[in-house]
Amino acid sequence: MRPPSPKIRRHSNSPPPAKKIYSNTSPRKSSNAVENFVNPIQVLEEDAQKGGAFKTGYPFAQLPRFVSTPTVVEDEGNCSPRFMRSTLYHVPRTSEVHRWTRLPFAVAITPLAALNEHETEPLLTDFGPGGPVRCKRCDAYSCPFMEFEDEGWSLLCPFCHNYTEVRDDYHGHLDSNKKRIDRNKRPELFLGAYEMFALGEKV
Ligand SMILES: [Zn+2]
Repeated sequence: MRPPSPKIRRHSNSPPPAKKIYSNTSPRKSSNAVENFVNPIQVLEEDAQKGGAFKTGYPFAQLPRFVSTPTVVEDEGNCSPRFMRSTLYHVPRTSEVHRWTRLPFAVAITPLAALNEHETEPLLTDFGPGGPVRCKRCDAYSCPFMEFEDEGWSLLCPFCHNYTEVRDDYHGHLDSNKKRIDRNKRPELFLGAYEMFALGEKV
């Protein structure tokens, strides 16, 4: 059997050919390639000019400012990047693609992060004697991405897509958009980060 031609031989673990990011890069002027690399100082300075109010966005989160950029964060349903910040905001579709990037993918969680003096502390919510409302399958806490169905008696988890029956003391009526009519009074339904009373053994 003839060995495969080198031209068509492929290795499944090899990264795809790198795309040229900067179209103005001339292959004859290799010294100019250095000038086309991203200058981290310049990027930080440009981001600093975007400082000020930062709304986290909902349902789609806004790309957070750098930690070096002074901002006043407003929680719109996705939590403040002070509490959670990802190393990647364009997540590779597959683990194989992620491996090619050679970039770390992690989330830094800082639940007690110091807030700007102009920012609002996470509001406190009381779920009553039944304790925090959670998905019965994956234990996810109630959040703005939970969807209510069956006239408010069923809760659809956005993480595991399982339905959880809503207990009597947490039931609320829905509007025409299937949103709880009392959602603006319940921090867990409009904030990405909130405080809660933790009661019982399983909170
Ligand atoms: Zn779940």
